Amino acid sequence: MIVDVAIPVRVPGSFHYLIDDELGCSLKQGSVVAVPFGTRTAYGFVLGFPKKAEVELSKLKSVKEVLVSEPVFDEAMYEFLKWVSDYYCHPLGEVFSTAIPKPFWNPKKPSKRKLSLSSVLPEEHLEPVVSGHELNADQKKAVQSILEPQEKRPYLLHGVTGSGKTEVYMQVLSSVIESGKTGIILVPEIALTPQLTERFSKRFPNLIAVLHSDLTPKERIQQWEQITQGKAKIVIGARSAIFAPIKNLGVIVVDEEHETSFKQEDSLRYNARDLAVVRAKLQNAKVILGSATPSVETYLNATTGKYIHLKLPERVNRRPMPKTFFIDIKDKTQWYSPEIRWLSMGLFRAIENTLNQGQQVMLYLNRLGYAHFLFCGDCGHTWRCKNCDVSLTYYQNPPLLKCHYCGTQKKVPHTCEECNGVKLETMGLGTEQVQKALVSLFPKARICRMDRGVIKGKKDLENVINQIQKKEVDIVIGTQMVTKGHDFPGIALVGILLADASLNLPDFRANERTFQIITQVSGRAGRSDVPGEVVIQTIHTQHPVLVAASRYEQEEFYRSELAARKVFHFPPFHRAAILRFQHANPQRVQAFANQVVQILQKEVENRFPKCQILGPAEAPISKLKKMYRWQCLIKSESVRELQSLLKLLFDWEKRQKSSVQMAADIDPVTLL
Ligand code: ADP
Ligand code: ZN
Repeated sequence: MIVDVAIPVRVPGSFHYLIDDELGCSLKQGSVVAVPFGTRTAYGFVLGFPKKAEVELSKLKSVKEVLVSEPVFDEAMYEFLKWVSDYYCHPLGEVFSTAIPKPFWNPKKPSKRKLSLSSVLPEEHLEPVVSGHELNADQKKAVQSILEPQEKRPYLLHGVTGSGKTEVYMQVLSSVIESGKTGIILVPEIALTPQLTERFSKRFPNLIAVLHSDLTPKERIQQWEQITQGKAKIVIGARSAIFAPIKNLGVIVVDEEHETSFKQEDSLRYNARDLAVVRAKLQNAKVILGSATPSVETYLNATTGKYIHLKLPERVNRRPMPKTFFIDIKDKTQWYSPEIRWLSMGLFRAIENTLNQGQQVMLYLNRLGYAHFLFCGDCGHTWRCKNCDVSLTYYQNPPLLKCHYCGTQKKVPHTCEECNGVKLETMGLGTEQVQKALVSLFPKARICRMDRGVIKGKKDLENVINQIQKKEVDIVIGTQMVTKGHDFPGIALVGILLADASLNLPDFRANERTFQIITQVSGRAGRSDVPGEVVIQTIHTQHPVLVAASRYEQEEFYRSELAARKVFHFPPFHRAAILRFQHANPQRVQAFANQVVQILQKEVENRFPKCQILGPAEAPISKLKKMYRWQCLIKSESVRELQSLLKLLFDWEKRQKSSVQMAADIDPVTLL
């Protein structure tokens, strides 16, 4: 018998092997086998049993061993994963090995699979500890629309922060489960959303499996088996949960659909938000994309009728949206003092007032550490990472220089490594420095930080969230982490220390990101009976993106952003793909990138007129973890042309056997 096997290697396509008939009969599509591959033994997923081989039978090697005969994916999952492989130009074997937890297809310790599941889930389902809210009119309309059986289109649930989106998801899920179906809830990062997971667990006790990257292998197997055995009816997880083998799928929810963490940025570069739409379509399920600040592409789909646009324009109980004030931070007269220029007198007073009224303050700055970098006051030397083309971030407590990309850290020097000078200075503001300054400005206030410098795991985060909710903290200083949909009723004032930071990134999504961040951070204010206030410090008080965000003029923002994207041929009007090249040798990678671009240009001239090639160029971070990086951008009006062009290129690459790594990033979320 011949078996067709997909192997998790960089080479596209599948491979034929021989197997004797008796053993072959025990195999099914989705079984796992050990096969010789080059000089080693590889694991492979059985795809099928072709009647004829591509080459002479005598040239085929034989399957060495059957590792798992029960299929690790079913027909529906196979169809979905094949779509993923085709669309992202990624070898099918690697797609399987990304989608399925390793212990299932690489069962080195078979004993691990014999888990006692009886202790995990009791047979009978408990009654919910918490029942739902009586929905308001907008929420009701949304739930009804989503449950409309004839409607197949995806839904955008576009609700301002605190408008009760989560409540809508839960009521939809209730109905879905009552009708005997199941659901998947994708969240940006499970560790950052313990509140949401808890709300679901209380509402649907014993029906939930949780999948995230912090699970131990044993926990992962437990969760996965609850799903395959049909015990879990709801899967909550970060992006990889889109591959959960749940059957009878009724609905997929993507909460905070605009978040970039739905995109995997290495190996298989998929976007779980987009895959949610695909999987729902293939498996005849509903899909809800929820956000207060939808991505530009989802917004376009919703306004052109490709998706259904459901709006929750008001906060629950009609709480007002916070009022916003701008402060021009380049104006010296606004500074708190010549030493503390990042804090305006206006924001200082606002903090003071808020504290006096017994309310909480949240300050946002997306910069870790004490300062961006350390430099020598004599010769100007800056300390950079030896592995990556970036400066090292300066931390004061404990004193360290750290690379945020590769994790390298070293002791802070006392003298310059170039000129032996001793006047070492720092530049740029980080959350550590803000905290230190506030401690002396507001000596009575209880101050905490919420960033990756202090929050290392789920427990740390839960502690901080608890402290904030119990009002054991007066001022919270945080990075992006504070934007993640947390519900902190006591926050009356939000201060954005430098709103421009993300506007100036050389990326086509810089405006979109800034709009989302400002709106989301502002949304943390005024979630209870105390009205909220937002102070935005900026050097561009008239910047249209900031103005639109501060006035909640969403349509205004999307209209002008879409117009700009159209003019510059960016997504969502053109599809984009980035080819990323890397190699330890800078000349080799450059030469290879040039060669690829020449080939692409020729193909575009001959056959693919709708594609446009830009580059090659050094990547914005030109060296990362000791590898030199180049990239080129392909834009196209036609997805088909883009896909064909890439297929052709990867076939060419397969023949080259170059040591330069080339990877495609389809629908990139960032050009950086
Ligand atoms: P979002 O997900 O849009 O930020 P949530 O669903 O978290 O909003 O709702 C915000 C708060 O309002 C939560 O504390 C939630 O329990 C509460 N809430 C939601 N819907 C209702 C409702 N219909 N009546 C009263 N409270 C509600
Ligand atoms: Zn580094």
